[in-house]
Amino acid sequence: MSTVAHTTAKSWTAPVVKPRREQVPASGNLCEFCTAKCCRYFALQIDAPTEWRDFEIIRWYMIHGDVALFTEDDEWYLLVYNVCRHLLPDRRCGIYETRPQICRDYTTDECEYEDDWVYDRYLETPEQVIEYAEAVLPKKKGESVRSPKPALLPVIG
Ligand code: SF4
Ligand code: SF4
Repeated sequence: MSTVAHTTAKSWTAPVVKPRREQVPASGNLCEFCTAKCCRYFALQIDAPTEWRDFEIIRWYMIHGDVALFTEDDEWYLLVYNVCRHLLPDRRCGIYETRPQICRDYTTDECEYEDDWVYDRYLETPEQVIEYAEAVLPKKKGESVRSPKPALLPVIG
């Protein structure tokens, strides 16, 4: 959702620039300058993968679409990008009075307001999961470090 006001021939509105966290006064509300990032995904902690079978399960998660994987302090998380059904077009919560406890407990103190957030590890495709597994798992004797070559295309006669 764009926060930039557009220019028209008849009127001009200064573009709204997202302030840095420290620029928002204590009396202000950080969420008013945010695209409701925390209402557009959920993350589940998973066991750290240690063998091929674990990575195969993660690959299976990730072939389902808008799913990624990240780690923080060596804890592994599945990240599912899915907008909460109660997020209103104006980015307010549609069930504020009865929102889940996890939403009530979440604060802006360490939230992902900033746009330069980085993870310790971030894998966003099933192919990256396999490449990562190939890089960190021990090789079987005689096994190549490279992925198997794809089948050749048939020659049309
Ligand atoms: S808590 Fe943080 S990430 Fe969530 S809407 Fe407010 S500023 Fe945005
Ligand atoms: S219930 Fe409300 S606060 Fe919680 S994720 Fe949905 S829109 Fe956000």
